[in-house]
Amino acid sequence: MRSLLITIDGPAGAGKTTVSRSLAKKLGYRYIDTGALYRGIAFEAKAKGLRYDNDVGLENLCMSLNLKLIFAEEGSRLFSNNKDITDQIRSPEISMLASAVSSRPVVRKYLLGLQRNMGAGKGVIFEGRDMGTVVFPGADMKFFLDASLRTRALRRYKELSAKASLTIEEIEQDINQRDKNDTTRSLAPLKPAEDAIIVDSTDLSADEVVEFMLSHISRC
Ligand code: C5P
Repeated sequence: MRSLLITIDGPAGAGKTTVSRSLAKKLGYRYIDTGALYRGIAFEAKAKGLRYDNDVGLENLCMSLNLKLIFAEEGSRLFSNNKDITDQIRSPEISMLASAVSSRPVVRKYLLGLQRNMGAGKGVIFEGRDMGTVVFPGADMKFFLDASLRTRALRRYKELSAKASLTIEEIEQDINQRDKNDTTRSLAPLKPAEDAIIVDSTDLSADEVVEFMLSHISRC
C-alpha cells in the first residue's frame, strides 16, 4: 500500500489522539497532534503574561519560539526551546487558553507553515480541527471524528480524573465552550471537509473506530 497523508479532525474529547496513535501503530506511520502545538503557544503566552488577543506580542512570541513535537509510539512529547512541556500543557486552563489563541490569525499563520513542513514525506496522520479543510486540503484520506457532548465529557473525565478535581459537568461546560469557540471563529473553523468520512464514535470503542478507518484506508 502506498504511503498516505491522513487527516483526523473533530471536536475536543472525540478520541482523536487515541485513535490516531493506534492507527499510526498499525500502519507504521507517524502521528501529529496539532492541538499540542496550540497548547504550546498558549503555555508560553501565559508564561510571558501575554493576553490571548495581544497580536503583536503573540507574533513576537511565535517568531522567538522553537516548538518541536517528538514522535513516540506511547505518546508524542512537545519541546519548547528544548524544554519538555508535555505534561504542563494538559491543564484545563491551558485547554481554554489554547482555544482562545487559536482564533488569532498570527498564531494560525505561524502554525500553518510548521504543520505543512511536518507533513513532508507522507506516512503520517495529522489530528486537529482544520487538517482536512485548511492545512492539507489535498490529503489522501480525511476523517471527521465526532461523539455526543456527554460521551466526550465522560471520556475526558476518565482521562483527567487522577490529575484534576473537576466534575463531569464542569468538563462538559469547558468542552462545550471550546466547541463554540472552535466552530464559530472566522478563520479555519472546526467543520468536516466536504470529502471527509464522518465517524460518530458515541457508541463505538476506539478499536471499532480504528477498524472502520482501516477498512477505508485499505481501499485507498
Ligand atoms: O486537540 P486539543 O484539544 O489539544 O486542542 C486544543 C485547542 O487547540 C482546541 O480547542 C482548538 O481551539 C485548537 N486547535 C485548533 N486547530 C487545530 C488543533 C487545535 O484550532 N488543528
